Amino acid sequence: MLTAIVGINWGDEGKGRMVDLLSEEQDIVCRYQGGNNAGHTVINHMGKFILNLLPSGILRPEVTCVMGNGMVIDIEHLCGEIERLRAAGVKITPDNLKISDKAIICPPYDVACDRLEEQRLADKKFGSTNRGIAPVYGDKYMKKGIRMGDLLHPEYLKERLQTVLEWKNLTITGVYGAKPYSFEDMLAWFDQYGAQLKDYIVDTTVYLNQANKAGKRIMFEAQLGALRDIDFGIYPFTSSSSVIAAYAPIGAGIPNCKIDCSIGIMKAYSTCVGEGPFTVEMFGDEAEALRQAGGEYGAATGRPRRVGGFDVVASKYGVLCQGADELALTKLDILSDLERIPVCTAYEINGKRVHDFPTGEALNIAKPIYEYFEGWKCNISSCRKPDDLPEKALAYVKYIEQAVGCPIRYVSVGADREAYIKMY
Ligand code: GDP
Ligand code: MG
Repeated sequence: MLTAIVGINWGDEGKGRMVDLLSEEQDIVCRYQGGNNAGHTVINHMGKFILNLLPSGILRPEVTCVMGNGMVIDIEHLCGEIERLRAAGVKITPDNLKISDKAIICPPYDVACDRLEEQRLADKKFGSTNRGIAPVYGDKYMKKGIRMGDLLHPEYLKERLQTVLEWKNLTITGVYGAKPYSFEDMLAWFDQYGAQLKDYIVDTTVYLNQANKAGKRIMFEAQLGALRDIDFGIYPFTSSSSVIAAYAPIGAGIPNCKIDCSIGIMKAYSTCVGEGPFTVEMFGDEAEALRQAGGEYGAATGRPRRVGGFDVVASKYGVLCQGADELALTKLDILSDLERIPVCTAYEINGKRVHDFPTGEALNIAKPIYEYFEGWKCNISSCRKPDDLPEKALAYVKYIEQAVGCPIRYVSVGADREAYIKMY
């Protein structure tokens, strides 16, 4: 049984908390794309954790975690993350963490290139997390990536690094006028952090196929949401990887299998980190109130997130891209103080009403058309059954369910593991 947990919106929907909750019934949890630009927050009886690279299943000792070939891994960051979690009492050994030999390593020179390019772009910047993600995916497709498996072959690694670094330094010095990276320093970096991770490196295709044949339940954890997908998202303000559920088996390392269930995580309102078109963006006091209520500051970067009302046009598209079979609607409790709740039900583009999510310049010039729902104006964070919800909150959930055309199975009303309602 293969299940994907994926984002319907622009990311930060609460995927980490839903993976932490739903992995109770899983044997294996795999990350399949992205790197440490992710910030997945999990709050449970063990404390509060922000996971950047490790799958959120790591907090369940009986679950095995896989970091798939579709990921880009900053090995220095990963060593730090493992250390932090161990200090908090989390068990991490080669038994419960497997890293794909085909995953790409994100080295310091790509982190530098990310920052240098954002500086060069100045007011045209993308709002990158500056974690090296775009440059290292660029390397991957230019076939200049260095893979986790290369750490197991020091002579080969040395040769690869020499060739790649020579090429990379041409950009660093020639394009940006910055100092080149020394081969010795970089080799030492690979040696130092690689040594700590060698025992975790496996062929995840073999591992996952054996597990699948043995009837193990496998979950895929996405980073970001459909609207940040490299192909289907708000290009060029996307991430650099495929975040879509259909890619999950490929990025995890089990390309021969199809997912059985896609669970979309969708927020009860909209947030967006970084630049790019965000049709429902609110400004001023209204935005600040929602940002404060939702604690909308990036988990990976601390940056204030842009906020807005629920966007039916974008979310319906997200549901479609993710092939969602069911949804979790998160952070409903955050809307509890609102007098009236704005929902964007259509866009207006050049005087025409549009219901299909547009792309490119059409999206840039789209204007939101709103409908307003009456707020319920009471605390719902202790609700645990559909009947506990005030009528107006239930009406809001039902409206959204019908508007995006996919059943909402879970509604979360707080950040804790147990703060949720199973709708059916
Ligand atoms: P992810 O990147 O999709 O895993 O989401 P993030 O962790 O970046 O952002 C979600 C934030 O909302 C985190 O701070 C969570 O602790 C918090 N959160 C998740 N679900 C709920 C909820 O139902 N209610 C409230 N109040 N907070 C939630
Ligand atoms: Mg996040």
